[in-house]
Amino acid sequence: MNVTVNRDRLAQHFTNLCEIDSPSRYESNVCQYLRSCFETLGANEIAEDNSSEKTGSNCNNIIVRFNGDGNWENGIFFSTHMDTVEPATGIQVHREGDIFTSKGDTILGGDDKTGIAALIELVSLLRETGETHCPIEFVFTTCEEIGLLGAKHLDASLIKSKIGYALDSAGINNVVVAAPAANKLKIIVKGMAAHAGFNPEDGINALQIAAEAITKTPLGRLDHETTSNFGVMKAGLAQNIVPALVTIEGEVRSHDGEKLKKYTEMIRQIFEETVKNHPQQQPHLGVPSSQLEIVNDYPAMNLKKNDLVIQKVLAASEIAGIPQNMVIGGGGSDANIFNGFGLPTAILACGMNKVHTLQEYADLNDLETITRLLYAIVTLQDS
Ligand SMILES: [Zn+2]
Repeated sequence: MNVTVNRDRLAQHFTNLCEIDSPSRYESNVCQYLRSCFETLGANEIAEDNSSEKTGSNCNNIIVRFNGDGNWENGIFFSTHMDTVEPATGIQVHREGDIFTSKGDTILGGDDKTGIAALIELVSLLRETGETHCPIEFVFTTCEEIGLLGAKHLDASLIKSKIGYALDSAGINNVVVAAPAANKLKIIVKGMAAHAGFNPEDGINALQIAAEAITKTPLGRLDHETTSNFGVMKAGLAQNIVPALVTIEGEVRSHDGEKLKKYTEMIRQIFEETVKNHPQQQPHLGVPSSQLEIVNDYPAMNLKKNDLVIQKVLAASEIAGIPQNMVIGGGGSDANIFNGFGLPTAILACGMNKVHTLQEYADLNDLETITRLLYAIVTLQDS
């Protein structure tokens, strides 16, 4: 496999993409750029769904299709997200040698524009070499960074391929085969308001109850495959009012569905017990009380070495001479959602680094490597 990546073209598309601001819900300019690129490159179809009605984005998810050459029964999809985290206004790419950074006051946007640039270069190369390839679909989603909203509201019937790869992981030469499922938790503790100086004995301090429960709750790494966190707490109105209401937002993640349930239930019980045992009970008023709302945020992904999606990338990596490490991820991404749709989807590292920080950077050599790997995947003969 000695396809020669056009490094200048790849660098140019990557720079252009990064310099089109696309914070979550404002992806339409990137979407337009992609439509125009892939129309020029002869896409057979560019479809879109109605996800913006649900996500609040200024554009929909789009699916770009390139027919195969008849030698392949099944196609492969590649997904990337068009949005970035903030700060992402007025991004200017600074290049030194092969390293791209921002000017320092914004992110770079390599998450996920390294992946997008590689896809543009992939098709450009296929057009130049004329090499036969399998049917290819690109799924460009919105609002990944604010809760995988684009993927969650994607019309999955638009994807014809049975397996896919999400280009959305830091570093290079890694295939993420597993990622945890997560529950989002919202806990509401109710007490009773009273004047803190005149009649504190009539109040029930919800903050104190919540604090007691929090200290009993296991947080952080719970075991080798489970974590939990409380990230936000809101309480109180003023220093002289006994706080009547506390809300806590948190999460539990686990690679094991049973553990996810178990720890979520444990947190519910800790809060209920703490409320029950609180000395200032006024049960006739329905306080104190606690309530736990659970949202199944995303399902787990758990691919095995024998799965076709893994076999293919390993075979391609051998042909291209680009060894891949199989790794287990700790976060949720669009790939969790695609796997939940019944579409086995692995995540490929595509050369982004220090993502979500002002120190973010990308290396052109990594972009070249991931492009060569993609090229090997789509030209790999069915076995
Ligand atoms: Zn990402």
